[in-house]
Amino acid sequence: MKTKEIVKQARKYAAPFRITNGAKFRLKDHDPGDTLDLKAEDKPRAKEALASGVQALAELQDKLYAQDRWGILLIFQAMDAAGKDGAIKHVMSGINPQGCDVSSFKSPSAEDLDHDYLWRCMKVLPNRGNIGIFNRSYYEETLVVRVHPEYLAKQKLPPQLVTKHLWQERFQDIRSFERYLTRNGIIVRKFFLNVSKGEQKRRFLERIENPDKNWKFSSSDAAERGHWDDYMAAYEDMIRNTATKEAPWYIVPADNKWFTRAVVAAAVIDALASLDLAYPKVSKEKLKELAVAKRALLAKK
Ligand code: ATP
Ligand code: MG
Repeated sequence: MKTKEIVKQARKYAAPFRITNGAKFRLKDHDPGDTLDLKAEDKPRAKEALASGVQALAELQDKLYAQDRWGILLIFQAMDAAGKDGAIKHVMSGINPQGCDVSSFKSPSAEDLDHDYLWRCMKVLPNRGNIGIFNRSYYEETLVVRVHPEYLAKQKLPPQLVTKHLWQERFQDIRSFERYLTRNGIIVRKFFLNVSKGEQKRRFLERIENPDKNWKFSSSDAAERGHWDDYMAAYEDMIRNTATKEAPWYIVPADNKWFTRAVVAAAVIDALASLDLAYPKVSKEKLKELAVAKRALLAKK
């Protein structure tokens, strides 16, 4: 497939899942099992399309890096076992590791808690020319911290700042922060891998039964299932309040891994292909310099 055709396909598969205005967003309108017009028997074809997508992505990244103008921030949020790690691994498999960093955000350290919550994320924002991947992010501040008030208590905030407006204020600050990044040439794309409660159960059981997957299982992950409805409410409110034109959320159906990966790849290709990426033009002086160097090289043994 030609790059132009790949970009066209990518736009087709990314667009239905993109939310640029959260006002009417309802999680119940989004089916975790959705595969658009593709059926289970199309899986091999989808995998092939992903492979050409990965190749196209590598070419786009090469230009991104050479041009050194734009930065790309990709944020992944999801319940456990939704497939964040696999999606990141597959979609980024073709790209040059020199131009890409993955940062994982776990429970904050004592040093993290001694700062404002964006601090640890700001330290690892992508350079120009680079793709930065956040495996979890500052959005945990409106998810796990909202579901578990005891985490908020540990944040050492002055008590008079902790009011009933706290979540709205966090949404507002995050929107402003992402607008700031966008105005600086850092493109922000956010992915919520939307797995169903039933499929999560199936994947947890597989982690328990398959010795090669035992390491992935943690009882605390399973315990979080007890808070499923609270998490879904938090995700819904988060997306309603932070989906914007400049920093859209993609609600990626996550019950079929092959489809999840195809949609994530499509959205990243779409984002990169929408930029004016090009190899830097060489100046006349530089061209002369190249010609001189060529002559000199050819003249000697
Ligand atoms: P895996 O797929 O390997 O389980 P993971 O992203 O779930 O990867 P964990 O080692 O389980 O990694 O740690 C992440 C945990 O840290 C999650 O439960 C998450 O909710 C929690 N966490 C992340 N950010 C914060 C935060 N700001 N405050 C409190 N907990 C947080
Ligand atoms: Mg985990």
